[in-house]
This record gives sequence, structure tokens and C-alpha cells, in this order.
Amino acid sequence: MIKLSLLLGAVSLAASASCLGQTDIKYPAGPVALTVELPHPQQEIFYVHERMPVSPGPLTLYYPKFTPGDHAPDGPIETIMGLEITTGSRRITWFRDEVDMFTFRLTVPAGADHIDISFQFPDRERGTPNLMGLQWNDVALYQAGYPTKVQLYEPTLVIPAGWRYGTALKTVEDQAGHVTFKPVSFNTLVDSPVIAGKYFREFDLTPAGSTVHRYLDVVGDSDGTLQIPETQIAEYRRLVEQAQALFHSHHYGDYHFLLTLSDYVSRGGLEHHQSSDDRARSGTKMFADADHFMLDGSLLPHEYTHSWNGKFMRPAQLWQPDFENPEHAKMLWVYEGLTVYLGDILTVRSGLWSPDTWRQVVAYRAADMTHQPGRDWRPLIDTTVAAQLVYGSPSAWSNWRRQTDFYREGQLLWLSVDMKIRDLSQDRRSIDDFARQLFSFDDGSFVTRRYRFEDVVHALNEVQPYDWASFLNDWIDSVGERVPLLSGIEASGWRLDYSDRPSGYESALENVGEGELEGKGINEMFSVGLFLDGEGKIEDVLWNGPAFKAGLAPGMTLLAIDGRAYSTDVLRSEISEAHKSGQPLQITAKSDGVTAFYRVDYVGGLRYPHLVRVPGTTDYLQEILRAKPLDNSK
Ligand SMILES: [Zn+2]
Repeated sequence: MIKLSLLLGAVSLAASASCLGQTDIKYPAGPVALTVELPHPQQEIFYVHERMPVSPGPLTLYYPKFTPGDHAPDGPIETIMGLEITTGSRRITWFRDEVDMFTFRLTVPAGADHIDISFQFPDRERGTPNLMGLQWNDVALYQAGYPTKVQLYEPTLVIPAGWRYGTALKTVEDQAGHVTFKPVSFNTLVDSPVIAGKYFREFDLTPAGSTVHRYLDVVGDSDGTLQIPETQIAEYRRLVEQAQALFHSHHYGDYHFLLTLSDYVSRGGLEHHQSSDDRARSGTKMFADADHFMLDGSLLPHEYTHSWNGKFMRPAQLWQPDFENPEHAKMLWVYEGLTVYLGDILTVRSGLWSPDTWRQVVAYRAADMTHQPGRDWRPLIDTTVAAQLVYGSPSAWSNWRRQTDFYREGQLLWLSVDMKIRDLSQDRRSIDDFARQLFSFDDGSFVTRRYRFEDVVHALNEVQPYDWASFLNDWIDSVGERVPLLSGIEASGWRLDYSDRPSGYESALENVGEGELEGKGINEMFSVGLFLDGEGKIEDVLWNGPAFKAGLAPGMTLLAIDGRAYSTDVLRSEISEAHKSGQPLQITAKSDGVTAFYRVDYVGGLRYPHLVRVPGTTDYLQEILRAKPLDNSK
């Protein structure tokens, strides 16, 4: 039997330059000195200067097009301004490619050995007057013709004196906000964001006895927002321990959780190899309010899991030799789906979520996925192949079009895999063994390795022999009822059921906003087939559901139900009333200046998803979610 590590192709310099051939790798001259300044934080503009060693003659420069983790050609090229290229005192004329907007061409004059590139990049998404978040791929051009792995950069960041910062980059010198970092490859630079701010705290999450450091670096808009209770710091420390117990390896030097706590930056997370860019609401909400913490609790575990699944181990064609070559996103059901499954398990094993919260979250997602009529025409695999479309597709009609279902449906798929391994092995093995099989080699190395579908199947077979290829292909390629969405839940001793009371998770989504993978709103998709905002505006309608058949559509606003002025409470009480009376709902709605009546034939009552125990069966979720014995090797 060939070992997994032999099947997987290491991404060496040679591999990264495979199009050039191993003996033909070319290295550009010298490192690029890249300086990024933030002189006026309230204006939120980065001033960029690059000094790039070059040779005279034609030169092509790229602005990073495919943003790692976004899986789409969405580098914010439309944002940059003030681009000037000079050598000495001479200005060099540049031309943008007429087809590829990310490509610039110029001619370096005779006698020049470097060029100076300058431009500005305003970023209101990740900054406030008190803090900043910098992604280096937003603020750098690089040379065409070389793999980005061999292009060396010397980064310098200039921030206001007194500001502190967190990053996986290593500092050479920090003089009053003039910070010079050790030179790194362009790949590592792009993979190493920086957060900085007037208000900054660093918490050490390193497990006792480990020499590999893990830090939680936090910036916020005030000192008060950075006060994180010791109980939650302890849970993040357990996250590090439980990840070690799951993967039995690490693939970073030190690891930095870079957490921005602010109501003024875009929420979300972006995975990196030795750090993660995590953005949540202000600390006075995230850490002081149970609803907020429930919604953001899985953020850090998810992005941390990506250090193994996605960064260290990456789908083969998702990896490319530079940021210009298109990423192939077909394997995102592993990259994201497995990460949601493992990340959410770690969220419970570390104590950040209770098992009950996990069940509420999974019930909500399972109900959502079973109310996706779009699966009748679009297999899961097409949502991954077309990831660069679905990340930005409209939310209206998303249940029929389908969206980034490889996250939530991926979680159900991997739960099903976990239960299948447990079933076939008579409870001797589980997804933990698969995680160990796939990720626990090259300990300490952060050289990216690549996996193909065959490698995933092989790793599963090493854990438990089975026809995994058919199992997985049937799931990801099929449409309609053939996909056994609830098979994992049902094998675990639970079943999806509905009651007339929303779960705590669903209430949190309604009350305080969107979850990591769920949108904010009033979800009546499982009853009348409507998803609404708090004011009665319809955001989505279940394709072929009761409201759809009545003629309602996204964009309309509900004005009255059965003669009562609209409110969320009125909608719910009338749905309950219709259940008792057997009479259809009479809805008044307006759209584009037209007010009309709609008769919705629905008498099924309120329906909110929950997982309920199946009597007489083993509760496998308890075992899946239980904290594992610590691995004391690191
Ligand atoms: Zn992810």
C-alpha cells in the first residue's frame, strides 16, 4: 500500500514552476522593498511604494487577481488609484492590458536597474480611525514570468506612533510605528495580514509545555471592547489543545488569531496558514452577549481548521503558481465542507459552544438544505465549480438558484461520512482517524501539500475500507431526492423535526444579526415559504412553496395579513390561526408602487427546526462532540 504522503505531490519550488520545467526556474533580481504607510487613519488610505529591481526592456506587472480564500478573480483592482511608475527622476509610461484588467505593461529604459511603483489604496472595509487591517495582496504589484513563491519581498509598515500590531510576519525593527519585517516570499506575504490599532491586546494561548506559540491578537475601537473574560480566553486555549488532539500536527511556526472587534468593519474571516483574519462585532457585544457569542463562536475554530485543511493541505488545482492563474474550486466541498464540520466540532470540544448549540445550528442548516428546491436541477458539485459566481449571486431566489451550499451541505455530508466510518468499523474508528490520516504528517512544516479526489478517497479507505468514491460521487453529483441529506443525523440517533418555537440559534439570527453562514432575518421558509427582514420586506420566497404559488416575490413588502397591519408577531399569529381555522392567509403586499392581495393556501402552522432524540438509539453526537484526550506532543 502506498502511503498517503507519497501520493500527495509536495509543492516544491520545482512544482510551483512546473510550467517552466524544473531546470528552467527563473528568479527575479533582488528583493522588492515594499512600504505601506497609513499616515491619516481617519482617511483610511494606504500609501504604497515599491522599489523593484528590474532589467531594461519590456516588463509585465500583475496586480493579484485571485484572492486566496475567495476563490474568485476579485482582487480589488477597481479600488487602486494614483498609479505612477518611475526610475530615478523619469516617469515610465504604463499600459493596462485591454482584456485582463490586472495586467500592466511598460518598458524599463536602458541603464535602469530598478523601478519605483507608487499608488494609493483606500480601505473602508477593514479600517476605522482607531484600527486597520492590511492584506498585502491589496497593496502590491508583482512581476509576471516568475512563480510568486520565488519573488522575495521586504515589507515595511508605517503606522501612527503608539499603535501596536499583530501578524505572523517576523519583526526586524519597530521604531515609533516604522515597522520593518523579515523578507518573505510574495506567497507568504499575501498569506500574512497585519492588524494594528490604538487599542490592542495580545493573549497567549500556548498550551502548557508547548514551544509552539499561539496568540490571540485583538484590536478594537476602544479599550473597553478588548476586555475578554478569562473564561473565554480559556476556551480559545482549549481550542488550540483540541485541534492538536484532532490533527496531531501543526503547520506553522507560531500562529496568530488576528481578531478585529468593531461594529464598523465588515464581519467575516479569511484563512491563512500561520494566522487568520477574523472580524466580529465589538467586544462589548461579542463577548458580553450570549446571542452574539453564539453567532460568532465558531469563527475562530473555522479559520483555525483551515490552517490544516485549505492551507497546509490544499485541493490540487485550487493551488496555482501565482495569483493570475485561475483557481479551480471544484473541491470546495472538502476545503470548506470538511472545515465547517471539523471547525464546528472543535467549537464544542473547546467549550465555546454547548452540544445543544451545535444541534440547533445543524438543525437550522439541515432544514435549510432540505428546503433548497434548486437541488432538483443543480448538483452540489456545480456550486463548487461555479464558486466564483455563487459567492456573489443574489440572495433573492437563492433557494432555487442555490448558493455556497458546499459549506452547510458539506457539513451534513461529512457528518454522514463520520457516521458511516463509525458504523462500518463497529465504533472503532471515526472522522478523527480520517483527520489524522489526512493532516498529521510533515509536523511543523508549512510547505503546502496538495490533494486530489483520489487522495481523499485513499485516506478514507486507509481508515475504513469502503466504496468511498461512489459514496462521495453519488452525493456531490446527484440531483433531487437521491442525495441522502439527513442520513448522518439519522444515523447519529437524532432526527430533524419541527416545532412552533424557534431555537435559541434561530432567535439569535433574528435578534442580533447574521451567523457565520446564515443570514439575518425572519425565517418562515419552512412554513409559508418566506424569508423577510424585520420590516416585512420579502428577501426570498421558497420556489413552488405556498407564498410562491400565491404570487409573492422577493422585493415586495407585506402591509397586512388578514386585515391586521403587518408585524412579525402578526405574521406568526395569523399562521397559527390559519392552522386552527383551516382558512388561507389573506396578505396585502406592495411592490414597485402597486398594492395587491394574495391568498396563501397554507394551514401547516409554524415550523422551526430542531434535532430530537430517537428513543432506543445510541447518541453518537455526544461522542462526536466530546472533548478528546490531549495530545501532549506539542
Ligand atoms: Zn472557510
